[in-house]
Amino acid sequence: MLQDKDRIFTNIYGRHDWGLAGALKRGQWDGTKDILAKGRDFIIKEIQASGLRGRGGAGFPTGLKWSFMPKQSDGRPHYLVVNADESEPGTCKDREILRHDPHTLVEGCLVAGFAMGAHTAYIYVRGEFIRERERLQAAVDQAYDAGLLGKNACGSGWDMDVFVHHGAGAYICGEETALLESLEGKKGQPRMKPPFPANVGLYGCPTTVNNVESIAVTPTIMRRGAAWFSSFGRDNNKGTKLFMISGHVNTPCVVEEELGIPFKDLIEKHAGGVRGGWDNLLAVIPGGASCPIVRGDQIMDAQMDFDGMRAIGSSFGTGGLIVMDKSTDVIAAISRISYFFRHESCGQCTPCREGTGWMWRVMERMRQGHAAREEIDMLFQVSKQIEGHTICALGDAASWPVQALIRNFRPVIEERIDNYVARHGMAAE
Ligand code: SF4
Repeated sequence: MLQDKDRIFTNIYGRHDWGLAGALKRGQWDGTKDILAKGRDFIIKEIQASGLRGRGGAGFPTGLKWSFMPKQSDGRPHYLVVNADESEPGTCKDREILRHDPHTLVEGCLVAGFAMGAHTAYIYVRGEFIRERERLQAAVDQAYDAGLLGKNACGSGWDMDVFVHHGAGAYICGEETALLESLEGKKGQPRMKPPFPANVGLYGCPTTVNNVESIAVTPTIMRRGAAWFSSFGRDNNKGTKLFMISGHVNTPCVVEEELGIPFKDLIEKHAGGVRGGWDNLLAVIPGGASCPIVRGDQIMDAQMDFDGMRAIGSSFGTGGLIVMDKSTDVIAAISRISYFFRHESCGQCTPCREGTGWMWRVMERMRQGHAAREEIDMLFQVSKQIEGHTICALGDAASWPVQALIRNFRPVIEERIDNYVARHGMAAE
């Protein structure tokens, strides 16, 4: 279990002062100037050596992503954009950073911005996060007043501006190119890639988009060293991570833990166990609503990290676990998730625009049992026609929960259909 001395987020529950005085007391903004004095290349190498992978869901190595930014400016400015549009059901960690420990992020913007040659950072905050945005803005203002941001930030010789931008509450604006479109004042619709944002991003300039947690942990990694951070977890899955545990556990929580902690330990130690005991565990969505749902027996001995979740046919996502006990109607749960993705599709590509609605309608019939058994395979095949055939990953995100339900809970769907037929004497036409 992670010890308190190794926690990066020391005020995640808001028990202490969120402001600058409290942040300074907890060691933030300590020697930031010295970190910058080590130079761009050193910082990028150190972040690469730490093994930090993006905390927004995709898990792309953060240092490597930074290294894609041009070394020399060709005259265009460089931008750092922080994705604080946390909108995936089951995911609620960035919110805690924004409202309780905002200086970790503000300091991270300076360190990361400097490392990629950016003098400007934009933080794109989810539309519903009103108090969080106010808190973050207050922290940014404090940093300016104290000379930690602005001209010659922290006395480092580097000028750094941080702007907080409030979104309007669209899930798709969490997709990095849709976020950039929205930031530019346009409709939040994903762009085709390539070109990638590191070449053509915000306002056509080199841009890196990172998740809140990824940026907020970097100053501590630079202070304590890559070796310290990579001493947690296992190869390819290094460091500490904010886990979010919701659903049918006794004490739902957000907690910082070592990557790779066994699922059972995580739930026992921090979430008070499964409601009604371990025998009552039915299913888990391990990383936010788009991650494939698995049965309780599949995840019981799994390690909670990128490779651990891949090994059981799911994905780690943001580390937002939704635990379901045996009182759950899994078909209804996935149908509800299908509705969510249908609602949030931006409508640009046909497979997503039409397919998400089609999947939801079939899922609703499956929920009632008003379907034919053959339709289960048809639903699976149609979801495969959506997955990988769209501009952005929302098509995949909508398909995976449905596919996983069929893979892991097929007997439940069949039983529902059989019961319906027994009651009504016919299957769906
Ligand atoms: Fe829009 Fe869906 Fe296409 Fe993404 S996959 S661009 S959300 S229509």
